[in-house]
Amino acid sequence: MKKILLLAVSFIYFQSFAQELKKAALKDLTEQNWQHGLSLLQEIVSMPNDAFYPEQIETNIAWSEKQFGERGWTTERLATDGIPLLLVGKSSPGATKTILFYFHMDGQAVDRSKWNQEDPYSPVLKSQNAHGDWEIIPTSKLRHEYDPNWRIFARSTSDDKGPVAMFLTAWDGLAKENIAPDYNVKIILDFEEEQGSPKLPGAVVKYKEKLAADMMLILDGPRHISNEPTLSFGARGISDLTLTTYGPKFPQHSGHYGNYAPNPALLLSQLLASMKDENGRVLIPGYYDGIELTAEEKEILSKVPDDEEAIQKS
Ligand SMILES: [Zn+2]
Repeated sequence: MKKILLLAVSFIYFQSFAQELKKAALKDLTEQNWQHGLSLLQEIVSMPNDAFYPEQIETNIAWSEKQFGERGWTTERLATDGIPLLLVGKSSPGATKTILFYFHMDGQAVDRSKWNQEDPYSPVLKSQNAHGDWEIIPTSKLRHEYDPNWRIFARSTSDDKGPVAMFLTAWDGLAKENIAPDYNVKIILDFEEEQGSPKLPGAVVKYKEKLAADMMLILDGPRHISNEPTLSFGARGISDLTLTTYGPKFPQHSGHYGNYAPNPALLLSQLLASMKDENGRVLIPGYYDGIELTAEEKEILSKVPDDEEAIQKS
């Protein structure tokens, strides 16, 4: 949390104060504010947030409006024909650039029987014992101690309420120092990400002026296996299709009618297998058109601290 909070603070400051706010000063700010961050995190994950239950989501929307509103941000519900999105913003006098952040406030559905704690919406601190099992330890330990191997367990702690808590903490820490960014900040909060964000694509089109920005940061992704703060540039996106195959109406032995009725499962597997070679390279013509890595990009990629042996073992 501390390390990531440092990253969040750096983020908000990457432009105007990159020169002035050196790493030591950022560490200092993190040190001063991480307890505040912890209580924010505990508060935020204590709200049930399964989007299957709109009444749970309403609590999360109202909480977000209140939190950003109290900090002097504008808040606006972007209506959809279902659960709304929440756009919050803070403009900076004289700013010419705008950054847009994305977070989601909903979490995956909860199966309480699979949780090794009383309530998934009641955060607990855990430490891993010699057998690799996670054991509850007193949360009060965090008031005086910090161990990077401890974990807070509650629904959405990492995905994706932790980043929201970190953002607010970073914002508060900087505000206390009277430091403000020289660019406008917008945040789009999604409350149905774990349902596949059914209303987001339509809303992006409908509200594109409101969402306009020069840069976008999505704080909802996996960190590198090294557990270092991770920046990924670009998101490759998703495209999907529905494919229907037809076969015989009744069960058929393969020999019936002399192999007359093809097996759709076999045809589908042949089709899927034809899309990639054995090294995972896509074989569909044109798939890689326009994708070229420059020498500079390859150089950056070569610096990612991948430990292939460790990844394979894991
Ligand atoms: Zn997520």
